[in-house]
Amino acid sequence: DLAPLRRALLSVSDKTGLIELGKALSERGVELLSTGGTAKALREAGLEVRDVADVTGFPEMMDGRVKTLHPMVHGGLLALRDNDDHVAAMDAHGIGAIDLLVVNLYPFEETVAKGADYDTCIENIDIGGPAMIRAAAKNHSFVSVVVDVEDYAPLLAELDANDGKTTYAFRQSLAQTAYARTGAYDAAVSGWMAGAINVEAPRRRAVAGTLAQTLRYGENPHQRAAFYIEGSSRPGVATATQLQGKELSYNNINDTDAAFELVSEFTPGAGAACAIIKHANPCGVARGETLKDAYMRAFDCDRTSAFGGIIALNQPLDGATAEEISQIFTEVVIAPGADGDARRIFEAKKNLRLLTTEGLADPRDAAMMLKQVSGGYLIQDKDSGHIDLSDLKVVTKRAPTDQEMVDMLFAWKVAKHVKSNAIVYVKDGATVGVGAGQMSRVDSCRIAARKAQDMAEVLGLPVPLTQGSVVASDAFFPFADGLLTAAEAGASAVIQPGGSMRDDDVISAADEAGLAMVLTGMRHFRH
Ligand code: 5GP
Repeated sequence: DLAPLRRALLSVSDKTGLIELGKALSERGVELLSTGGTAKALREAGLEVRDVADVTGFPEMMDGRVKTLHPMVHGGLLALRDNDDHVAAMDAHGIGAIDLLVVNLYPFEETVAKGADYDTCIENIDIGGPAMIRAAAKNHSFVSVVVDVEDYAPLLAELDANDGKTTYAFRQSLAQTAYARTGAYDAAVSGWMAGAINVEAPRRRAVAGTLAQTLRYGENPHQRAAFYIEGSSRPGVATATQLQGKELSYNNINDTDAAFELVSEFTPGAGAACAIIKHANPCGVARGETLKDAYMRAFDCDRTSAFGGIIALNQPLDGATAEEISQIFTEVVIAPGADGDARRIFEAKKNLRLLTTEGLADPRDAAMMLKQVSGGYLIQDKDSGHIDLSDLKVVTKRAPTDQEMVDMLFAWKVAKHVKSNAIVYVKDGATVGVGAGQMSRVDSCRIAARKAQDMAEVLGLPVPLTQGSVVASDAFFPFADGLLTAAEAGASAVIQPGGSMRDDDVISAADEAGLAMVLTGMRHFRH
């Protein structure tokens, strides 16, 4: 069993909560050692502190690069108190044991996020801090190490509950957090450097995150799960504010991300848009005169699937739209804001989760996407590929009409967010049939057309909305069969990447069926 804490070394960049902690430790008879800025802050609050420079016999030097890197500090952190040799070394050199280390590091991540220049980022790499943290964490048999302000209160509670001591289990848990912090810190440095010096595939790569939420379970109830965030400021599910409703689940977070990324393709300036997601695939996406109109048109693509869906809007939620959404069961709504009327209407729906963001995400942002496989992970650029009208190549005898062109570009944006094989029928700025995740493209064409037929029955339409629609395919048609299925369903124009060995067959088939077809030259696989 350890003796009560006697000496603590405090060295923090973020001074939040420092004075309260220093006071609480002093009151418990703990001697305080500190580096320059930390000591100054404590002293100004009237606390008694000893400078680390006084302990090491060296001034802090080289712009603070060397402050605590000294045997008087590291010996005090690393010495095994129950090892005769270690104790003899401490005695011989006058090294005093340090029982508690409180460090938070130079704000490297924040400095990068602010867009600082290269040299400023380099100067914000903490050296002595991580060295002390790693030393104290290694010696957790004897030393407590705190790296987060939010652990100050639990530390004091632990001391109070154990006569001024900490338990081994508590120190172990602090050590685990400590190594995650230094690991994440170096991952941030290395990740930033890879970008700064433009290394495409660094030989080693480290990824890290901070726990945002422990989840009740994963995709299924027997799977444990948690949500970790990278600390970016990009609008999205990781940075959204939840205004009401139950905690988000694993599947909610995944689907909300899919919904918000999709709706962010549609700039609010060009009109309202809504995306409804189920199982990470859209079951309805539409533009509208108003937000409510966009929602209703998205809903009409596949009312059956929309039940229990996740809704993303590209404009702040208003009362009329909220009223309409309230008519059926919805899991999550995410939007760049929500007005007072909308908030009041949703309050009656206690379980409905409402998330607001600071604007939309930029679909052209550069980012890295990670996918785990057994024993490793794949990393790739986020699919920020986009096409403009000028990129499209008309390959059929008939050229598309202006309306077909507008709808094809809409369908193409949606197809990018549908799991492959993706087929998306669109009419007048609204999806009317989505075929997702099939192992054959022709099946995706058939399924999407059949869904449109089902909806025609629900809506009491004489013909399905695929009549006179356009169709987008996320990758080329390997054979003409898929294209012919779309033509049978009534599609009049096709947008697809092209590039198949049999492009000529597919183009002739399109001509024979009287279709207009454009090639994008870009594929949007999404698995
Ligand atoms: P202070 O504000 O007390 O002057 O500095 C506190 C910061 O210095 C902490 O973030 C701590 O991690 C960092 N630090 C402590 N020792 C060293 C060192 O030897 N070298 C460097 N570069 N940073 C240190």
